[in-house]
Amino acid sequence: MLCPVDDAQLTLASFGGHRIHRCPQCLGVSLSGSLLPELRAHVALQLHQQRDSAGVQPCPVDGQAMKPIDYQGVAMCACRQCLGLWLEAGQFSRLLELVEPPRQADLSNIGQCVPGSSSSSSIDGLGDILEFASDVFDVLGNFTD
Ligand SMILES: [Zn+2]
Ligand SMILES: [Zn+2]
Repeated sequence: MLCPVDDAQLTLASFGGHRIHRCPQCLGVSLSGSLLPELRAHVALQLHQQRDSAGVQPCPVDGQAMKPIDYQGVAMCACRQCLGLWLEAGQFSRLLELVEPPRQADLSNIGQCVPGSSSSSSIDGLGDILEFASDVFDVLGNFTD
């Protein structure tokens, strides 16, 4: 697999148990389309909306022209054929900040035992999650009093 920017051979790296390909030269990152389900849905929608826009770089997987899109302010290119993504190094670290779960607690279980937490489906962004987490801990604290 070759870097779409400088044709360097991409090397295999690991990210959260998934395998990604990274360019040793420009540090760009190639993500498979199946890596992050939420991101993939967003990418598919954006690709659909920009059906007529021109491609910018060839997909490292299948050579199709990838389209420039953004996900919560992170710029990337997406391949219509395999939904693979290409991110510059700086954009990849911004994406990691968006998708990496908070380290303080596993929120996936806590949310289910809090009364009236139906608004949790509208949560997006780490700031909101942390704010939600502190609410949860307030509630849990009340239970133990
Ligand atoms: Zn490169
Ligand atoms: Zn592709």
